[in-house]
Amino acid sequence: MISFSLMCENGHEFDGWFQNTAAYDDQASMGVVTCPACGSAKVEKGLMAPGIPAKSNKKGDARPPVYAGAPDHKTKELVEQVRKLKEHIAEHSEYVGSRFPEEARKIHYEEAEQRGIYGEASLEEAKELIEEGVDVLPVPTLPEEHN
Ligand SMILES: [Zn+2]
Repeated sequence: MISFSLMCENGHEFDGWFQNTAAYDDQASMGVVTCPACGSAKVEKGLMAPGIPAKSNKKGDARPPVYAGAPDHKTKELVEQVRKLKEHIAEHSEYVGSRFPEEARKIHYEEAEQRGIYGEASLEEAKELIEEGVDVLPVPTLPEEHN
């Protein structure tokens, strides 16, 4: 997990925790990274939290992407849907944390008890699972879960 200092269009600063940079980019482009103060999805990444070495290799023109035109109302609806989905998952599934890819495979290949599980997987791991035909549903992280 890495922490990003984020700032919304209204100047609110807050911290977001993400699996990795790609996870942040994915969630931000889906418009589900929102400011906890005003709910705006127009959020920009600031400096990373200390302890993460800054990459010094110049790899082209790494300008941060700009997220514009995310309609607020729709974003809120989306966040609400994700929240309900997560509640449902938490109620009906077993939390397996970072063992998720392993457990999901075992269940898929019937090496483990058939049940609903949830946990963490990297984007890469999720892709691999999907390619193997394992049912995986990526669930975005909500702002209030960062703690
Ligand atoms: Zn804000």
